[in-house]
Formats: sequence, structure tokens, C-alpha cells
Amino acid sequence: MPISPTTPAEAGAPTNFIKQIVAADVAAGKNGGRVVTRFPPEPNGYLHIGHAKSICLNFGLAAELGGITHLRFDDTDPAKESMEYVASIMEDVRWLGFDWKNRVFFASDYFEPLYEFAVQLIRLGKAYVDHLSADEIREYRGTLTQPGRNSPYRDRSVAENLDLFGRMRGGEFADGACVLRAKIDMTASNIVMRDPTLYRIKRVSHYRTGDAWCIYPMYDFTHCLSDMLEGITHSVCTLEFENNRELYDWVLDTLQTPCHPQQIEFARLNLNYTVLSKRKLIELVERGNVSGWDDPRMPTISGYRRRGYTPEAIRNFCERIGVARADSTVDIGLMEHCLREDLNRRAARVMAVLRPLKVTLVNYPEGQTEELEAINNPEDPSMGTRRVPFSREIFIECEDFLEDPPKKFFRLAPGREVRLRYAYFIRCEEVVKDPATGEVTELRCTYDAATRGGDAPDGRKVQGTLHWVSAPHAVPAEVRLYSHLFTKENPNDVPPGGHFTDHINPASLEVLTECRLEPGLSAATPGSPFQFERLGYFCVDVKDSRPERLVFNRSVTLRDTWAKIVRKETNSKQNNRK
Ligand code: ATP
Ligand code: MG
Repeated sequence: MPISPTTPAEAGAPTNFIKQIVAADVAAGKNGGRVVTRFPPEPNGYLHIGHAKSICLNFGLAAELGGITHLRFDDTDPAKESMEYVASIMEDVRWLGFDWKNRVFFASDYFEPLYEFAVQLIRLGKAYVDHLSADEIREYRGTLTQPGRNSPYRDRSVAENLDLFGRMRGGEFADGACVLRAKIDMTASNIVMRDPTLYRIKRVSHYRTGDAWCIYPMYDFTHCLSDMLEGITHSVCTLEFENNRELYDWVLDTLQTPCHPQQIEFARLNLNYTVLSKRKLIELVERGNVSGWDDPRMPTISGYRRRGYTPEAIRNFCERIGVARADSTVDIGLMEHCLREDLNRRAARVMAVLRPLKVTLVNYPEGQTEELEAINNPEDPSMGTRRVPFSREIFIECEDFLEDPPKKFFRLAPGREVRLRYAYFIRCEEVVKDPATGEVTELRCTYDAATRGGDAPDGRKVQGTLHWVSAPHAVPAEVRLYSHLFTKENPNDVPPGGHFTDHINPASLEVLTECRLEPGLSAATPGSPFQFERLGYFCVDVKDSRPERLVFNRSVTLRDTWAKIVRKETNSKQNNRK
């Protein structure tokens, strides 16, 4: 079940349990009162909204408590890492509004010291070279209920281990022929502690160190030592590393390192209708289910950016979901809410017709045009007003007309009168149809010249106000409407034999190519946000939009009261039938 947003605590008070721990450490003078956190992505994919939670938490902790935050690329698994990912991660963190200054680090810069630490463990009798195969190691490890067994290679001498480890590095053994393991306890109740692997042989070129190494350190060995080398005070990570904390501490304790960061775990972000695992996101890109990492339907930072999300909206979302130790799933509606809230303040209102229906105002003089004054943002008077052209031929939204409307349909219908926003009252006098298909192709309406600006001097009321554009002045555009990428709340919940992409929403992207916008939008710059009145928030697509062929993305809809009424009516009809 999705959880509701947590209320941010009083300003000033630590707003989550991790902040409380760190603030207490600062108050007690631990680490000399310093706070050093890090954000440690592996450059094997683009960042997603889950990473944003971690970024906001780590940078937020340091910013609030007078500390600093390192950006560290955790790049010890060369097969899938690349400079493209490094660059995208930097761009995304910066765009979110965080600054690591000159504190960017790479675990691959520590390959030499890490090797030395491994040698030290061997000297201490705490690590050994093992020739069991991967399958045998798994089998020897035991299970949750069964203790593991010692490898026959476990009791080799220090000298032999030093020699073998040196030869591993020297490239004398084939990939997988042997590994370096910590010598801890094969009967430990925490399986992580049953002689975990520290190094494996892998002849894969590394995007930074090239072919200098054919052995690479494992995450558990690398992470704690990288934190230590950088003087991190609080190493914040997600819950799946809870069992690894014992190993994190064991490595640092055994090596008696001069500093010992504290690992603290929190629950990762899950969003409904969304997958948040890089492995799955890569699959979506590679299978062509989306157009790329920055497809506006992707839960990546670059996808959200292209969709029209703002850093403020994302940061606000991360603040509102809070930080807890229990796993939960957040409703995607909360993200959308945060975006609306932000765009409501900053987006200029404009008129755009997505599915145009031509309206001819039969009593408006032919060839005449005029300009009407429109408000750019009722939330922000400083954004001023603009003038929009009006003429005898306009477009309205197809769905704003129904020939045979139900009672609560307050838009246009034969004989009914509505207001055109900032313009006049119009009345539908005649419906023109395609004789072949019966499709409505044009409405012939009259306008009331006395209602200019939107009010009738005789005090008569209309119940609906429609947006519109002047047909001869309008600029054409393509508009892309997005909805959830998955039809299932939890797309990860896949039956045996199924695949998570089985739940992809076939209607997650709808492309409308016949849209008509008010003429001022021809000058809109890529990325800039607008509220299309009555329709939602949209932004100019940064990749595909051209001055001669505008492309807009729908960032988020407005709340649709009509949809709600329909839902209610359908429900009550269904209830009546029962
Ligand atoms: P994924 O599981 O999506 O592949 P990952 O954990 O392998 O992600 P990393 O690059 O290792 O990706 O993550 C960098 C940091 O971001 C880690 O500290 C990780 O705990 C954190 N992080 C990753 N996913 C989430 C999430 N969904 N919510 C919160 N933090 C996350
Ligand atoms: Mg990871």
C-alpha cells in the first residue's frame, strides 16, 4: 500500500532519525564535531529518483550540520562502467542543486592502497587465496540454517598466500581460477561473515585504469576502506547493506585503521507504477521500450528533467517522503503533487488546443482581428499580461463539445452558451458533420460582442469557460502525453515465467501532432515550462523541438474535476445495478 506523505517536522529540529544521530554526534564532539558524508554511485547507469533520495539525504545532512559531502564513483566492477555514466551522474547531481566542489573521488584511484590493505590482511593471517570454484564456494557457504564448511585451502601459510596473491595480480591465473577471501568464520550466523570474497580475477579493461589490473576488489572490501581513506564520518546506505555492516566494521577493526566511519542504513525509495533498479532500467533502454535513459517516462533524473520536473519539485518530494528504517512504497501521485505545486508558481499560463475542433463565429466580421489581454500567472502578478489574437475562426478542444451532453457537462453543446477565456460568450447554433463519417467537423456559433473580456452586461451567467486559439494565428505543434509506464502498481511482482515488461502500459505515450498553440509560444525556449490552461503543465522538449516544428511534453496533468465526476457517476451507476 502506498504511504501518505509524512509531515515535515518543525523547522530547525532534525527531521529524520539519521539527522538526529548525526546531530547528536556533532553535539557530543564525536569526530571532532566534523560531518563528512558521501554519495557513492556506481557509474553503471543513469541516476534515478531513488538516488535523488540518497543525494538529498547525504548532501542535506552535511549542509545542515556544517559538513561536507564527497561524490565518489564506486567503480570496481569494470564490465558495466563508463565515462558516459560518470558524466551523466555529475550533470544530474549538479542539476538537482548540489555541489561537491572539488571533492570528487573514484574508488579506482584506491586500487593500489586497497591492494596493500589486502596484503596486510594476509600478513595478519586474516585472508587467504582460495581455489574452490564459484559453485563450490557457494556450496561450502552453507545456508541460513546450516553452518558453512572450511575450504581445504583455508589454512595455507601466510607466505604461500602472499605469493599466490602477488601472482593473481601478476596475471598468472585464469579468470575465476582463484579468489582472495577474508578468513573470518564459516559458522557465523551472519552469512556475510562466512569468509567473504575480497578480490576476484577479471580480465576486463577498466574505463579509468585500463588493463593495469586483472584483479578487482569486491564492494564490501572497497567501500569501508574508501570511506576510511576519505575520512567519511557517517556512511549512509540503504537497508540491503544492513547485514554487511558487520563486515564493514570487521575490515576496519582488523586493519586497525586510523578512522572508522559509522554505517547507518535507511529504507530505499520505492514508487508505485515504477521500477527503480538500474538493471531493469537498462533493460527498458536496451529492449527499446523507451527512447533512452532520458525518455520522459523514465524514473531517471534525466527523464524527469526532460519531462519538465524541476529540481525544487524533486527536492521537495525527497523531503516530504522522509527517511525511515522500514520499507514502504510511495504513491507516484505525491511526486506529481510536488511538481504541480512548484509549477503553479513558476509556469506562465497559455492557451493550447490539443485536439482542435474548428469554430466559425458567423456574426464576427470577416477579416477582422483583435487582441485580447490575458494574465500570465494569477499566482504571480509580476509575470504580467500578454495579448492574444482573436478572429472569426478559432479552434476549441474537441472534447469541449458534446452533441448530446449529460446534465453536468458545462461545456459547449447545441444551443448552449459558454465563455471563451479572456474573450466573449459564444453560443452553438449549428453542428457541421462529415456526411460520410458523421464526425463533427465544425461548429457554427454566434458571439456576443457585449461580453468582451468575459462578462455579460445584462448579468447573465454561463457555466463553462473554454480555452481556444485563433485559427489563422495559431502555431502548430506536436504534444506528447505521458502516463505511467506500467499498468501494475508493483511491476516487480511478476508471476513465474513472466517478465516485468509484460506490465508496460501500451498507452504510456500518446503523440498528438495536430495541436495548435497561441502564437507567442513560437518563441518558447527549450525546457521552459507552461501551464496550458485547463490541460496541465507542459514544457518544450529539449531534444526534439525545433523552431519550425515545436514539440511539447506534458509534465503533469491538472486535477480533472470532470474525470472525478465521471468516476463518481459510473460508481453510483454500478452500485445502483447491484
Ligand atoms: P539499483 O539498485 O537501482 O541498481 P544501486 O544501489 O546499485 O541502485 P548505486 O549506484 O550503488 O546503485 O547507488 C548509489 C547510492 O544510492 C547508494 O548509496 C544506494 O544505497 C543509493 N540508492 C540506490 N537506490 C536507492 C533507492 N531506491 N532509494 C534510496 N537510495 C538509493
Ligand atoms: Mg549498488
